[in-house]
Amino acid sequence: MNDTVRGSDALAPYAAHDEQSRGRRYPEPKPAFRSEFQRDRDRIIHSNAFRRLVYKTQVFVNHEGDLYRTRITHSIEVAQIARTVALALRLNESLTEAISLAHDLGHTPFGHAGQEALNECMRPYGGFEHNLQSLRVVDELEERYAEFRGLNLTFECREGILKHCSVRNARELGEIGERFIQRRQPGLEAQISNLADEIAYNNHDVDDGLRAELIEISDLMHLRLFRRQYDSVVGQYPGLGERRLVHEVVRRMINYIATDLIQTTQSNLDEARPQSMDDVRAQPTPLAALSPTGHEEHVELMMFLREHLYRHYKVLRMTSKARRVLKALFDAFFGDVSLMPPEHRDNAVVAEKERGPEGRARAVADYIAGMTDRFAILEHRRLYDATERT
Ligand code: MG
Repeated sequence: MNDTVRGSDALAPYAAHDEQSRGRRYPEPKPAFRSEFQRDRDRIIHSNAFRRLVYKTQVFVNHEGDLYRTRITHSIEVAQIARTVALALRLNESLTEAISLAHDLGHTPFGHAGQEALNECMRPYGGFEHNLQSLRVVDELEERYAEFRGLNLTFECREGILKHCSVRNARELGEIGERFIQRRQPGLEAQISNLADEIAYNNHDVDDGLRAELIEISDLMHLRLFRRQYDSVVGQYPGLGERRLVHEVVRRMINYIATDLIQTTQSNLDEARPQSMDDVRAQPTPLAALSPTGHEEHVELMMFLREHLYRHYKVLRMTSKARRVLKALFDAFFGDVSLMPPEHRDNAVVAEKERGPEGRARAVADYIAGMTDRFAILEHRRLYDATERT
């Protein structure tokens, strides 16, 4: 069914509409039974990079336990929050979902530690930005279609995937990079997905951090966002077991902040009255936003997690191991590209002919960024442990 035909739920004029899409890089016939943005979402779900997110780290390394979030469950939670908000604001649900599911496709193994390590290795060769890599995955690296490289997604979806980008890189990206040079906004579906990403990880990291016993409820009590919901749950259900208490509090925190996002964005829309997606793009600041208090509390939680969870010595030990593994992989493959499997070696040889050492480095980075946590560990062993089979 077409996204625009939903009776009284009809899309708002400022939402992404199929018929106003700036289209795909390689023109294709319209899908018969789906909207253009539903097709984008479906292509993302069927991609190799999406499946690999199962075994990529969010904060905890994949083998630490089955209950922790990985990039795939994170992406699904982002999509869930973003879709709810999109529907409430009469935005395009399918586009919001597609952007949310694709936003982390370019992530390296080992979460942010991996991203930093690869960026470090790539510094002399143009650097590595995971967000730009997500775009590279859908534009270039996926090999699924006879007629084109990549997934050939709509402009609107690609615009949403590229959340941030240095001006230097933006200059090389053509129309998709223009907004970073002109300081324009992306569509509302992209703005919502971006905030839903923060809401999702803030809240699920509280849950995962408590489960891993790296943070405690007593620490969280200093945070307004947590304290308010905690007091109301305990008041309503004294004696509730800790597991259910934590889940009930986290559930209410997500609900509280998502409601704040919907209400604040709606009032921004009422004031700005954009008549099209291009009106949204031309605004001086994003229309999707939290209220000043909501934003403050949200940032307070973010800072707390940075300090107490992401910098917990056990997490830092893991990230320092990850950094060494990625650096060693990069050094080995960049030093001798024939150590990579043939298709990646061939990519590196071609890229080096075209662009010199920068091309070679990019091909190595593509290979490493595509790895799952466990594959990276295995490759490291195969390269450096003489007793391991190659
Ligand atoms: Mg994310």
